[in-house]
Amino acid sequence: MRRYRYQTLAASWREKVRTSHHSISTTPNAITTSDPSKEDTPSVAIRIAIVGSGPSGCYTAKYLQASKKFPTQIDILERLPTAFGLVRNGVAPDHPEVKNVQHDFEDLLEKKNVNFYGNVEVGKDVQLQELRELYDMVVLCYGCESDRSLKHLEGGHLAGILSAREFVSWYNGHIDFDWVGPIVKDALSSSKQQNVVVVGHGNVALDCARILAKTRDELDPTDLTTRALDILHPQNNETIQHRRISVVGRRGHVQGAFTIKELRELTKLPHTDFLVRADELDMGKSTLASQEELAGSRPRTRMDKLLTEASQVPSNGSNQSQIHLRFLLNPKRFDASPEDSSKLGSIVCERTKLQGESGSQGAVGIGSMETIEAQLALLSIGYKGVAIKGTEPWFDESRGVLKNTHGLVDSASGDAGAIYAAGWLKRGPSGIIGTNIPDAKDTVATMLHDMDKVTPEATNSKSLARLLTERGVEYVDWEAYQRIDKSETSSARKRHNDQPREKITVRDELLEVARAQ
Ligand code: FAD
Ligand code: NAP
Repeated sequence: MRRYRYQTLAASWREKVRTSHHSISTTPNAITTSDPSKEDTPSVAIRIAIVGSGPSGCYTAKYLQASKKFPTQIDILERLPTAFGLVRNGVAPDHPEVKNVQHDFEDLLEKKNVNFYGNVEVGKDVQLQELRELYDMVVLCYGCESDRSLKHLEGGHLAGILSAREFVSWYNGHIDFDWVGPIVKDALSSSKQQNVVVVGHGNVALDCARILAKTRDELDPTDLTTRALDILHPQNNETIQHRRISVVGRRGHVQGAFTIKELRELTKLPHTDFLVRADELDMGKSTLASQEELAGSRPRTRMDKLLTEASQVPSNGSNQSQIHLRFLLNPKRFDASPEDSSKLGSIVCERTKLQGESGSQGAVGIGSMETIEAQLALLSIGYKGVAIKGTEPWFDESRGVLKNTHGLVDSASGDAGAIYAAGWLKRGPSGIIGTNIPDAKDTVATMLHDMDKVTPEATNSKSLARLLTERGVEYVDWEAYQRIDKSETSSARKRHNDQPREKITVRDELLEVARAQ
């Protein structure tokens, strides 16, 4: 019954689209392709909309595309004018090898039956319900666009407190985060002894610490945006006498969420002191449960060895930056600077001890407090998914994920077609890029099973384009995106020969470049 009703809606919408005669290539609001392989040819295919062009969206498209079970027409909608989600806006600029995955995604977007619709925000420019009517299947892969927060703590409003997501998005050139620059600049210029606290012990926290610690020369050949480089490491870096970056976690080193490769990299930075306290390592190993956790895990044993060795290396003292990896400290309060009551001055943390079973030990406060000076605090305690308009009935607010079974979203409302999910939105904000491969395959397997119930029919591949154009939404197609890519990677824009690209960080500029033929 539900399927019948959905097919009726979809058919009536398609009929409406077919009877419209406007060609999008003549309309002013579309930044469109001239690639003949992607022309408006009617075909018989199952029409699929994928919302989000990050790894999960791209891998979902890749495995749908690779399955020869049914012909598919795949449209990827992306709210930014640029593609690839956190591969562009998350992965650290000094880890260029990780970004090579985007070549795989570029090949995908070259395919005849895969279209890119950048600069289209679902929930704003087009509604989820409209997609459900326009497509046979909709896959939501829009990631996690918010944070777990500590801003509810006393003093959480003070200037100088940012989430790691805000900080990372800014240094990576995300167009929505230009406002972060003045806050970082202000915090770092308020004192020659700069104190930064990064809260959390995941790999994002280590990325933040490393980017803060590295010198301008080390970061110059990366794709760190110049807007960020000039603030983090000004040309005349005599203004920085010393930068102390404390990376604080509420549990011990045995429970750290970071991985050994990333940790080892921090210990080897040539111009940075890496400091760990032996007493904090000892406290972290003092429970029987921690000893069991260590004994049962080779990676954790290696991590323990690495940190124990690091704790025996004295501070060089002559380096400009120091990273202090601190354990068993839980932030309780943010205190204002004595000079300016609107700004952060320090973070008060409670010493903790571990309690609980092996594998699930928690941090319990023991009452003693430590105050760590900080002009800048980066809260790196995890990203969080948010509902976009239309997903509210199936959204688990506490976990920040869409309720789903193997990717099929629990869409029991009965009035439209099935919705699927993949990636961080499906399983929460954890896992590396590669984790999205089995995750996407799981969703695709569910979709392929459900496709038996869908009748492929003649479709007009440009019906979304027409809807957007009628609405005046200026979308960026694949060829237009490639003009952005070419401009960003041109030597005229780069500050350094080895810099992979200088990202454009303003939406209007991106659209202008996308339009230029
Ligand atoms: P995302 O990559 O976030 O993609 C979601 C996409 O949806 C985005 O492009 C977004 O703009 C778009 N979108 C959002 N809302 C809408 C909307 N309403 N309409 C249309 N589009 C929308 N993994 C590694 O393997 N190596 C690393 O070095 C690494 N570094 C990382 C660094 C950071 C700071 C972070 C946070 C993660 C890192 N990861 C790394 C993990 C990896 O990035 C993730 O596993 C992966 O990006 C998750 O993919 P996703 O597609 O679910 O989400
Ligand atoms: P994460 O790995 O989940 O780490 C989150 C950290 O925040 C943990 O240390 C956690 O401590 C802490 N935390 C959570 N809630 C807290 C609270 N209320 N108070 C204090 N601390 C709290 O998240 P992430 O660092 O954002 O990384 C997300 C994913 O991206 C991970 O899978 C990561 O591996 C991946 N990533 C990979 C790379 C890479 O491969 N180089 C780089 C970046 C990111 P507890 O353990 O005590 O909860």
